[in-house]
Amino acid sequence: MSERPRLTVLSGPSGVGKSTVVAHLRKVHPEIWLSVSATTRRPRPGEQHGVQYFFVDDEEFDKLVANGELLEWAEFAGNRYGTPRRAVLERLEAGEPVLLEIDLQGARLVRGSMPEAQLVFLAPPSWDELVRRLTGRGTESPEVIERRLAAARVELAAESEFDVTLVNTSVEDVSRELLALMKVS
Ligand code: ADP
Ligand code: 5GP
Repeated sequence: MSERPRLTVLSGPSGVGKSTVVAHLRKVHPEIWLSVSATTRRPRPGEQHGVQYFFVDDEEFDKLVANGELLEWAEFAGNRYGTPRRAVLERLEAGEPVLLEIDLQGARLVRGSMPEAQLVFLAPPSWDELVRRLTGRGTESPEVIERRLAAARVELAAESEFDVTLVNTSVEDVSRELLALMKVS
């Protein structure tokens, strides 16, 4: 059991299905703990404070950074996102598996500060399918979609930095594979 990876980072381009996979995994395995990030992005319809994110303004985010309360943070497509440090460390100290769903820059920061972390890359079946998913979600303006697709090109080029790649063809299959990687029975 000592080699059990306890911190798993899930990354991948915007629109690939990270939130969908994580939501499915948590529906089937509610015991899995997912870090809730802070963000300066506005909530999408249906998103709730404290559930998908802690939605904060720029000033509050500045304070979290200044007080060292974030394990890592990054700017992504015009907004800032960060992982609250304390909750993650508490879970790890209790020996519980922890899942972070963060962008490439955040994954690199975690790799630097916690080299034992397992980095998982969620890839789309194809570029066209990624564009279809991001556009089909219908939550962003054309300008924001363009920014996210530009970021996606950079993220896809970094796949080899990750320990494992999972291709998101089927949400159920990928959730099962992710669970196996987290070694939770
Ligand atoms: P991310 O969190 O990576 O930005 P989302 O989870 O919001 O992506 O998914 C983007 C869109 O793709 C959503 O409309 C979602 O329903 C859809 N989607 C996710 N996974 C799949 C899949 N395996 N097959 C088809 N559509 C998917
Ligand atoms: P979205 O706005 O679509 O919810 O998220 C945009 C990007 O920010 C995604 O790639 C998501 O994984 C990433 N993200 C979410 N939370 C964090 C975080 O705490 N830190 C970092 N670095 N990225 C995050």
